[in-house]
Amino acid sequence: MYKAFLIKYGEIGIKGKNRYMFEDALIRQIEYALRRIEGSYTVTKESGRIYVDTEGEYDYDEVIHTLQHVFGIVGIAPMVQIEDEGFDSLAKELIAYVDAVYPDKNFTFKVHARRGRKNYPMDSMELNKELGSRLLEAFPELKVDVHSPKVNLYVEIRQRINLFSEVIPGCGGMPVGTNGKAMLLLSGGIDSPVAGYMIAKRGVVLEAVYFHAPPYTSERAKQKVMDLAKQVASYAGPIRLHIVNFTDIQLYIHEKCPHEELTIIMRRYMMKIAQTLAEENGALGLITGESIGQVASQTIHSLYATNEVCTMPVFRPLIGFDKQDIVDIALKIGTYETSILPYEDCCTIFVAKHPVTKPNLKIIRHSEENLSEKIEELVKTALDTKETIMCEV
Ligand code: ATP
Ligand code: MG
Repeated sequence: MYKAFLIKYGEIGIKGKNRYMFEDALIRQIEYALRRIEGSYTVTKESGRIYVDTEGEYDYDEVIHTLQHVFGIVGIAPMVQIEDEGFDSLAKELIAYVDAVYPDKNFTFKVHARRGRKNYPMDSMELNKELGSRLLEAFPELKVDVHSPKVNLYVEIRQRINLFSEVIPGCGGMPVGTNGKAMLLLSGGIDSPVAGYMIAKRGVVLEAVYFHAPPYTSERAKQKVMDLAKQVASYAGPIRLHIVNFTDIQLYIHEKCPHEELTIIMRRYMMKIAQTLAEENGALGLITGESIGQVASQTIHSLYATNEVCTMPVFRPLIGFDKQDIVDIALKIGTYETSILPYEDCCTIFVAKHPVTKPNLKIIRHSEENLSEKIEELVKTALDTKETIMCEV
């Protein structure tokens, strides 16, 4: 019965000029998301409101599911929109609405009328009262409860009149495109897709980089990363994924540096390369899935040593999360199943038995001196031969 949806969005921090930017970005993201499902949709705004109108057949659950992937939406209210043809007609429409949406009338309700224009002949109080009594006349089983009603009936008088009573939660956040771009270091694990999701949720466009080390990491591992990028893209919009061949760099570090420092030195090179890619592509920060103490390379000492090569901000949205909290988000956003597929890196030769957990920066720098200029060439080759693919739903 619903032909339209009212989109509710948060208002904090979007006053004045920012508001238009926020609303326009939200409209673009809604249009983009709806483009991938069947049906014909028009997205419009009317002072402080965004509407999605449908035309012809559409799948209700699919529309809700799709809108729940759009950052910036706090709630989705399926609504009936009617023309203003006087109070009697409004009362009739509201009765028809209640009849259609609630076949069983054994519930308590409250009418919330709001006038978006003050030229309507009745004020909100009168509307609440009069509409309430019309409803009670039509359905005597109904009861009014102004304190904790089972059903809140919203009546918004604007150019036209909006009737709605259900608000389905959206995912919140800010529309993608309102907050610049960042480069996500995306592996096939559980953490980095969640980290990307969280930063995109603040309105940031994502670009991603995956360090692939064939034959030590399999083609299936690479496919898994592309699948994860696509899943994150169902929220974040299209993600350009750079696949950088890291094998020669890894082998060279393995050859020249103490094995217990391998992970840290490799991670320093990953960050450097990610940063170069970020600079080349207009991204203003890096994103990783690191969390303090999760593994040897994520002790606070290791993070200090890794971070030292970065000149741009590194966003680590999971830094204070327990693994279970991260898993819960991965499950909620739908990346978990893919993340736990067993095509993990088989590069055990690169994993030291006893990696340093308190790397000393002076020692690490000293070890890196063994790498000479050849490492720069290898980095350049890795960048020159990268593969870039667009991941989107
Ligand atoms: P994840 O579950 O995200 O793989 P992790 O717990 O396995 O994380 P690490 O392997 O230490 O942790 O990696 C820490 C972070 O470094 C990852 O969250 C990711 O952002 C980045 N990273 C690790 N390996 C790669 C890779 N091969 N390509 C791109 N980024 C990577
Ligand atoms: Mg990992």
